[in-house]
Amino acid sequence: MKKREREFFHKMLKRQIADLTRKSDIALAGLLDSTIHSADPMDRASEQLERDFALRMLDRDNKLIMKIKKALKKIEDESFGICEVCGEEIDIERLKLRPVTELCIGCKTHQEKLEKLTCE
Ligand SMILES: [Zn+2]
Repeated sequence: MKKREREFFHKMLKRQIADLTRKSDIALAGLLDSTIHSADPMDRASEQLERDFALRMLDRDNKLIMKIKKALKKIEDESFGICEVCGEEIDIERLKLRPVTELCIGCKTHQEKLEKLTCE
């Protein structure tokens, strides 16, 4: 991967991580802020559902933040954009759509087929 491309992805990932961190900080503050105090059991149930949903979103964002951090580390040690399975370069267009991807399209398709097989 060219230096210019690495810089492009570095910037992109840094921006994503800043957005996600800000978003999950707000969500977390909202969660800590909202105590359930409705007397109505139906209201309480829906408040609980909202909290569960917010927690799941937070969890998902945290996982993505971890992935982005890993990708940033890879940019530093220049292994970014290399498939973790076959060691080939991952298509740049694929990386632009999903910079945290760790597999080339061939290995990804293969992995998904395997997962499907083990699930069935
Ligand atoms: Zn591969």
